[in-house]
Amino acid sequence: MLLLLPSATLAAVVFGPLLARGGRDYVVRIVLPPVNQPRDLPTIAGPQDASRPLVVLDPGHGGFDPGAGAGAGAVKEKAVALAIALEIRKRLLEGGGIRVAMTREDDRFIPLADRPAIARDLGADLFVSIHADSAQSDGARGASVYILSDRGSTEAAARFAARENRADTINGVPLSQTSDAVGAILLDLSQREAQAGSVGAAQLFLREIQGKVPLHYDTVESAALAVLKAPDVPSLLFETGYISNAEDTGYLESAEGRRVIADAAAQAIRTYFARQAGT
Ligand SMILES: [Zn+2]
Repeated sequence: MLLLLPSATLAAVVFGPLLARGGRDYVVRIVLPPVNQPRDLPTIAGPQDASRPLVVLDPGHGGFDPGAGAGAGAVKEKAVALAIALEIRKRLLEGGGIRVAMTREDDRFIPLADRPAIARDLGADLFVSIHADSAQSDGARGASVYILSDRGSTEAAARFAARENRADTINGVPLSQTSDAVGAILLDLSQREAQAGSVGAAQLFLREIQGKVPLHYDTVESAALAVLKAPDVPSLLFETGYISNAEDTGYLESAEGRRVIADAAAQAIRTYFARQAGT
C-alpha cells in the first residue's frame, strides 16, 4: 500500500471507522508527534567514519499503522517491510564500507514527514523506503521501484520554501541567511541533483531484482509519495511484492525469499555508492 496522506489524515482514515462503530458517545483521541520537533535520531551502524556513504533504510508503516494486510491473521505489510529492511542492513554491514541507519527497528509508528527528515538530519546519501503492496485482485504480483514524480518534486520545493525559516541547510548553506529567491534556487539545484541520483539508484534496484523475483513494473515508476520528499537526498521506494498474492506472500514470508530480495537491494545500494564515488 502506498501512503500518500499526511499522518493526521492517516489517523482519521484508520480510526474513523472505529469511532463510528456502535454509535457510542466517547471520543478516541490520538496524539501524533508534531512534525518539525527535534527528533531522536537513530544510531548509525557500520564504520564510524563520516566519509563513508550512509543509506537510511525506511521500513514502511509500523505501530497502529499496519499498512496493507490489516485483516485478522493476514500477513502485515509493516512486519514484512521491517523484516526485509533488517535483512538488507545485515547484508550491507557484512559487506562493510557502508554506514546504515534505520527509521525504525521495531514495531512503532513514525509520521511520514519524519522519515525523509531523519535522512536529511543524518546527512544521508541515499534513502530507501521498503514496502509491500496489496490489490483487490489476487492476481496482481511482483516488485516495483518508485521515485518521486516531477509534480511531487515541485510541490515539495514549494512546501519546503514556505518552511524556510524552520529549515536547516541545503548542501551546507543555511537558507535562513539567504533571500527567498536565492533559497529557492539552491533548493532547485540540489533537488535536480537528488532526482538524478534517485533515478540512477532506482534503475540499479530494477536491474538487480530482475530475474530474481517477479516484477510488477519493469520500468521505474514515479508518484507523489510523501515519504520520498527529501529535497536533497536521492530517494526511492521499493515495493517488494503483493501480500494479497499467495506466491508473493510465499517469498515475502520465507527466509530464503527475504534473503534473495535483500541481496538484490544490498547489491543495488553498493553499486550506487561505488558509482557515486567514481564520479
Ligand atoms: Zn506501504
